[in-house]
Amino acid sequence: MQTNFTLAQLADLDTRESEKILRTCVHCGFCTATCPTYVLLGDELDSPRGRIYLIKEMLENDRPATEKTVKHIDRCLTCLSCMTTCPSGVHYMHLVDHARKHIEETYERPWADRGFRGLLALLLPYPARFRLALIGAWFARPFAGLAGELMGGRIRAMLSLAPKSIPTPSAVDRPQVFPAEGPRRARVALLSGCAQQVLAPQINEATIRLLTRHGVEVVVAKGAGCCGALVHHMGKEPPAHAMAKANIDAWTAAGAEAPLDAVVINASGCGTTVKDYGHMLREDAEYAEKAARISALTKDVTELLHELGLNQPVRSTGQAIAYHAACSMQHGQQIRIPPKALLQGAGFQVAEPAEAHICCGSAGIYNLTQPKIAGELRDRKAVSLARTGALAVATGNIGCMTQIATGTAMPLVHTVELLDWATGGPLPKALEGRPEFATESPSPSLSAVAAE
Ligand code: SF4
Ligand code: SF4
Repeated sequence: MQTNFTLAQLADLDTRESEKILRTCVHCGFCTATCPTYVLLGDELDSPRGRIYLIKEMLENDRPATEKTVKHIDRCLTCLSCMTTCPSGVHYMHLVDHARKHIEETYERPWADRGFRGLLALLLPYPARFRLALIGAWFARPFAGLAGELMGGRIRAMLSLAPKSIPTPSAVDRPQVFPAEGPRRARVALLSGCAQQVLAPQINEATIRLLTRHGVEVVVAKGAGCCGALVHHMGKEPPAHAMAKANIDAWTAAGAEAPLDAVVINASGCGTTVKDYGHMLREDAEYAEKAARISALTKDVTELLHELGLNQPVRSTGQAIAYHAACSMQHGQQIRIPPKALLQGAGFQVAEPAEAHICCGSAGIYNLTQPKIAGELRDRKAVSLARTGALAVATGNIGCMTQIATGTAMPLVHTVELLDWATGGPLPKALEGRPEFATESPSPSLSAVAAE
């Protein structure tokens, strides 16, 4: 794509990089076929190619974002399916990040929109505040229907996504070190996260049991918290950078006590962001190098386990499980084989739904800011998951679990919960009472299954 930036504009690093990205796009339109919003809405401006044009116009003309541009960029899920499809290697993620930052700096949103986004930024990244908000939402839940189309249906969407019961906080999320069982094979820092530890504390618990059982020492580092993705996707750069720096400091300090083999993430949305810290902070003289080091160390929990090799299952597995590939896992991090290979290695029959590349509509806060499109994508996903005939759905991202659970009767579990159960942990709560999982048959050996 031809561009016409001035030399003065190209003095800015973000603009220079966006120009390079724009120039790699050859307008072929292959990406449109796999873009969820284009598939649903059929509008070129809701396709990757259309958005790329809008971003080019906005940046080239160096003008504040228009209402039209904001509307179509806001509708983008950042699912990054377009990056997987693009034959030219267009780095859409960095381009849309730049566009969102420009929108945040130049566009004045209507007050209700501004207030709603501000509220989400104040609540979601902080577990204590988020828990309080959920308690409030729990009381308001019975009145969700009355909220109607208030704020474009966002209040109703927020209340319907609130869980029916709020789990008590888990002790594992406090800073501490969990020693490896048997000889230590690796030492890792685990991102204990923000919203996930409130909504589903059992995920970190299962991760720690699973890793320590496989000879991994797990550090929950003091000072680490939200990865920054939630505010980053709103274009709010200063708080996103502050959160990234807090994590980098915490993990660098943990690494100074004894070297870390990895920073482990069990929510793929967070993993995509932490793996991008090096890029986010590339201009920061103090943090650029440290950020790049942390990004290079970062692994999804399934990547690490796949490298280590999974223990033999100690239960009678064999149940059919539908694997939902989170967009941040399959497109953002290009991780496809490890989660499925691990589930198969643990003895499960893994079924993949049709349209596995299409987003479920969760996409960070998208299901709150764009509830209509998110709801349509969720229902489409729920149908394809049900058609697999599987007993339960496994995935590696809390956002997808929460989103899909509101549209299906199938139990949703995190991949590590199943792997933990298969290798000796407790049955995931979501599967309690399911006779197909009522099995305690021991397996004779605990030797490691070779990684594929
Ligand atoms: S990130 Fe997803 S929704 Fe956004 S343009 Fe790409 S494919 Fe479409
Ligand atoms: S597939 Fe890639 S090169 Fe083709 S229009 Fe989409 S972004 Fe541009």
